[in-house]
Amino acid sequence: MIDIQSRLNTVIHQIHLAEKKYHRKPNSVLLLAVSKKQSAEKIREAYLAGQKYFGENYVQEAIKKQSELSDLNIEWHFIGKIQSNKIKLIAKHFDWVHSVDKFSTAEKLNHQCELLNKKLNICIQVNIDNEKTKSGVLPKDVFELAKKITALSHLTLCGLMIIPAQGTKGAPGMALLQQQLIQQGFKLDTLSMGMSADFEAAIAAGSTIVRIGTAIFGERVETGFIC
Ligand SMILES: *Cc1c(COP(=O)(O)O)cnc(C)c1O
Repeated sequence: MIDIQSRLNTVIHQIHLAEKKYHRKPNSVLLLAVSKKQSAEKIREAYLAGQKYFGENYVQEAIKKQSELSDLNIEWHFIGKIQSNKIKLIAKHFDWVHSVDKFSTAEKLNHQCELLNKKLNICIQVNIDNEKTKSGVLPKDVFELAKKITALSHLTLCGLMIIPAQGTKGAPGMALLQQQLIQQGFKLDTLSMGMSADFEAAIAAGSTIVRIGTAIFGERVETGFIC
């Protein structure tokens, strides 16, 4: 059996070491525990060990677990691909959405939030490696999208998110892009980047949210959930 508490503490320790090593402010990097394809029991265990922020990729799976964990005060982050027929549920069941890469998605999320009378924190997912097959807006189009999202009353644009391609150095480019947007007047304090395999490099490059799954929970269960 996996000892989630000790794995969680190891990851937190590694984050603190990386903050120190790369001259980042103490506690400037938030740990998002990515719990897709992990059981509600494991999430509860991590929560009881002190973890409050959890990321999910699949709407139906997340809602099912959220209802089993409704006694806990968890902040839920949606980090998966956004299907337009799930936008209403995403708006209702999450506090953050990291993976917005189209204005039409932002508009629909905003509309749902208006009906729910809530505000949602948003990151724009950037395709920093210019990969044809990947989701995310191209760096050259980020400014335009950021401007349009900022005008929406029920969304708070917090920053940028990437899932870098294997073996590429997308992370430093993201910090630069964030700086350019800040210079243009956007109030962005979030860079969501870094996963189990590369979070130290992401912290070195300015990440403020690392999204870590397997290093905390172990291998994912690939069956048994309707996604
Ligand atoms: C699954 C996932 C993660 C976590 O990946 P690990 O390698 O398990 O740490 C982070 N971000 C996104 C967008 C993911 O889909």
